[in-house]
Amino acid sequence: MSQSLDNALQFAQKHASRFVDQLGEFVSIPSVSTTPERFGDVRRAGEWVADQLRGLGMKNIQFFPPDTHPIIYAEYLEAGPDAPTALLYGHYDVQPAEPLDKWHSDPFSPTIRGENMIGRGASDMKGQVAATLFAVESVLKSGGKLPINLKFMIEGEEEIGSPHLKDFIAEHRDLIASDFCINTDTGMLSPTQPTIVYALRGLAYFELHVHGPKQDLHSGIYGGTVHNPAQALAELIAGMHDANGTVTLPGFYDKVRTLDPEERAELARLPLEGDTLIARTGVPQLWGEAEFTPTERLGARPTLEINGMYSGFIGTGAKTVLPAYAMAKISCRLVPDQNAADIKGQLEAYLKAHAPATIRWELLEHVHGNPSISDRNSRWVQAMMQAQETAWGVRPIFRREGGSVPVVTDLQTLAGMESINIGVGLPDDNQHGPDEKLHLPSFHKLIESLVRFFYILDK
Ligand SMILES: [Zn+2]
Repeated sequence: MSQSLDNALQFAQKHASRFVDQLGEFVSIPSVSTTPERFGDVRRAGEWVADQLRGLGMKNIQFFPPDTHPIIYAEYLEAGPDAPTALLYGHYDVQPAEPLDKWHSDPFSPTIRGENMIGRGASDMKGQVAATLFAVESVLKSGGKLPINLKFMIEGEEEIGSPHLKDFIAEHRDLIASDFCINTDTGMLSPTQPTIVYALRGLAYFELHVHGPKQDLHSGIYGGTVHNPAQALAELIAGMHDANGTVTLPGFYDKVRTLDPEERAELARLPLEGDTLIARTGVPQLWGEAEFTPTERLGARPTLEINGMYSGFIGTGAKTVLPAYAMAKISCRLVPDQNAADIKGQLEAYLKAHAPATIRWELLEHVHGNPSISDRNSRWVQAMMQAQETAWGVRPIFRREGGSVPVVTDLQTLAGMESINIGVGLPDDNQHGPDEKLHLPSFHKLIESLVRFFYILDK
């Protein structure tokens, strides 16, 4: 072990309880971004972050835009132009704590219970933002030099959908330019199983409206002569999958990356059995493409889901109506290298080919976001794997996440930057719920693994 690494790790150990105290200070600021009355508190949490960055000697600290919950930018470029540069992403805003009566302690008076800190935002994600700062501190304040350049991009609007972040990334591409991004706003499988999330699914969301007669009709007088829009919609939807669970939209799978045997073997290490999913969801049996495992179906295969349907009479009792109209909300989870913008055309092509002449249809588009993926063999991912393996004593699991993290996608699409997602949130942390907790041993392991990561990149 190099002397500087050793010094930094010793510093982190020696200051472990002070780190927890300081995190408590951060968690006690009620930075609820959705609540207008908390505007000043959100600002205060941002100032707290900026103060820490200043204390660490970070340079060029800026607030964007200055008149709302700002994105805080800071940099450390002393490793020099030949050293790699990492962008560290985080957010300092939190979800509302309500319902307050469901908490066993004040959400903004962080309390230590066993191995956990209880408080709103402790796990999502002030603990992880603070851990990043303390890892940097452990290197710099133990007489070491950071072997890589760092840029910080810490926002205060994540919990309200990051309304300014996309533009910020697009407009400040040069300022934030880095070799890769470290995003700690994700989770790990368990406290003993570090997890690197390297791919996230995208989303394309639609509404399909089917119109029949100009108004609701009496089903006795017109039934048998007019195509019921609810039935026509059901027929259209039913045809969007075949018997194997494969989506039938033309071209839907054309850009889907095939899983090679090596990646399939890596994904197979994830301890997610069909039985676990059955127990979690309460379904009698799982469903989906038979030639892929549940883990592969959740992370590496695209889906088409019906999120809601509406038609006709849905009140209590019976009404013999032939409805004028039917509607379904339909969304697709997308995987690399599918493009959300392509999906609308595929749905339209399907509807043109299959919609009967007895109805009129209309397709509306809601939000969409592209999928993202990082190269598992990149120098950065490999270094992170090594750092986590040493810190936890266990080889990390590589995971493709079924959901979306917009900032990861935006960095990839707008700035060409891949992210390594290495948060230490746990499945039972109650993020967004009452009694949110942060597992402190995992918090300290995150600090340790980041310190180790910095020095691995030095070689
Ligand atoms: Zn978060």
